[in-house]
Amino acid sequence: MKFEKKLVVAAKSALAFEVATKQQFKICTPKGYQAADFFAYNAKSIDEWLSPPHTWIASTSVKPRTGDILLSRFRRPMLKMIEDGGDGIHDMLLPACDQFRYEYFGYKGPHPSCSDNLMNVMRSRGYEINVIPQPINFFTNTNVQINGKLSAPKNIVKPNSYVILESLIDTICVVSSCPFDITPDGWEINSGGVVTELEVEI
Ligand SMILES: [Zn+2]
Repeated sequence: MKFEKKLVVAAKSALAFEVATKQQFKICTPKGYQAADFFAYNAKSIDEWLSPPHTWIASTSVKPRTGDILLSRFRRPMLKMIEDGGDGIHDMLLPACDQFRYEYFGYKGPHPSCSDNLMNVMRSRGYEINVIPQPINFFTNTNVQINGKLSAPKNIVKPNSYVILESLIDTICVVSSCPFDITPDGWEINSGGVVTELEVEI
């Protein structure tokens, strides 16, 4: 698959981009070990957004897999997972990080977050959002045990891991380089708390 342009999502920041129906795009972690929070909206009505919980019930998996159809909160097909170059290491359970999450771990003062990143990039496009949708956290290593215990152990996603998605409707997509630079026990998110850039190819 040949893409026309490459965009860089700077470490700890986010990028919004439009994707037309049937268009494919690629999200990559060139240095590896970096969580990519991914959000998508129906370009014609941002009241409709990508919803992992609505997706699980149809795909019967809490992780996105090649061939899975990703649904909106109105249960309509929005995107398709075309290729997984990330060894299945993705998450659809963790909410986007936010100021409260950093304060919970004792961080003092404002900290960049995927929630703020999303609000800011949507505002830059003229949309004031007051709900943070559940993201798909690509390149995020969550572990769900048989007894239901959940953790995010060491991030083992290799450099140049990627996913390729296809938009099934016109969408506004947002990718956030998760700014989680702390390493609480069992919640590493980004390897060693090092935050790096992501790449998007459209
Ligand atoms: Zn985050």
